[in-house]
Amino acid sequence: MRVLVVGGAGYIGSHAVYELIRDGHEAVVLDNLSSGYMDLVHPQAVFYKGDTRHAKDLDLVFDNEPIDVVMHFAAKIVVPESMKEPLEYYHNNVEGVRVLLAAMKKHRVKNIVFSSTAAVYGEATGICQEEDETKPINPYGETKLACEKMIEWASLAHGFNHVIFRYFNVAGADASLEIGLMKDQLTHLIPVAIQTVLGIREKLTIYGDDYPTKDGTCIRDYIHVSDLAYAHVLGARYLLEGGKSQTMNLGSNQGYSVLEVAQTVHQIAPLKYDIGPRREGDPATLIASNDRARQHLKWVPEHTLEDIIKSDMAFREKLNRKP
Ligand code: UDP
Repeated sequence: MRVLVVGGAGYIGSHAVYELIRDGHEAVVLDNLSSGYMDLVHPQAVFYKGDTRHAKDLDLVFDNEPIDVVMHFAAKIVVPESMKEPLEYYHNNVEGVRVLLAAMKKHRVKNIVFSSTAAVYGEATGICQEEDETKPINPYGETKLACEKMIEWASLAHGFNHVIFRYFNVAGADASLEIGLMKDQLTHLIPVAIQTVLGIREKLTIYGDDYPTKDGTCIRDYIHVSDLAYAHVLGARYLLEGGKSQTMNLGSNQGYSVLEVAQTVHQIAPLKYDIGPRREGDPATLIASNDRARQHLKWVPEHTLEDIIKSDMAFREKLNRKP
């Protein structure tokens, strides 16, 4: 299959491209390089510099490339930033998808695999099932939920087939160490902890220990980026084989507290951490039920929390060695 990967120069998009090419498919990347890197674009991918909010950029790609499936990764994803810049989040995340769907309609491209997030569940308690109520508590989650609904309505009206993936907490790097989460984008727990281990930061601050959880710190479900990226290959194949449109969680069915993550890192390499105040917009617990993805895609995440931490560490050590 020939897949357009919108945002294929970013962290997760670049991993999807690597998994597609490994699986024998062709990848076309569209990215405005606002937070992506040319270094992350697979050498075998066809690259277009352009913006999904600009219909002309999409026309150029769809006129030149026969596309079977579109994957969308071109979103802003940082919760605290979304609290400060909600309009920017709506413009980039929601308008970007609206223009993309309009272009797909115009060029008769029927299949889309869309990156959404556990943040659509908001203050979840326990394990999130896809049919649970969606009630985001930050603009990031709101923009992703708006896109989910737009895709569902557009599918109904225009006959798109879609797989919407709700990601839980993604970390780690491709086994080749050619790609990973780059240096200047770091706000997420695992890479921040690893940077601390490597002496790039003085310490890790745990944001709040007064949440209603077993040790008072937030609980998240961590998933290796390569497991997540491979699910996209399966999702695209599923659509081309006539699978019906679905929303699926991508997580591990298992939650770890921030303190447990810090302690797991500490067992691998000494980590200095302290407890600070809560961060705005953080729900206490987010864990995925991944039964749907297991059932429909036969997808099983293969990496453990320790694998994820070691993989991020190996990538960051490599980055550190670069001049
Ligand atoms: N976190 C933390 N210190 C940090 C970064 C994150 O305590 O330096 C916590 C954060 O408050 C949340 C969890 O780690 O409870 C996961 O946050 P992250 O930003 O990695 O992902 P999110 O769940 O917000 O998408």
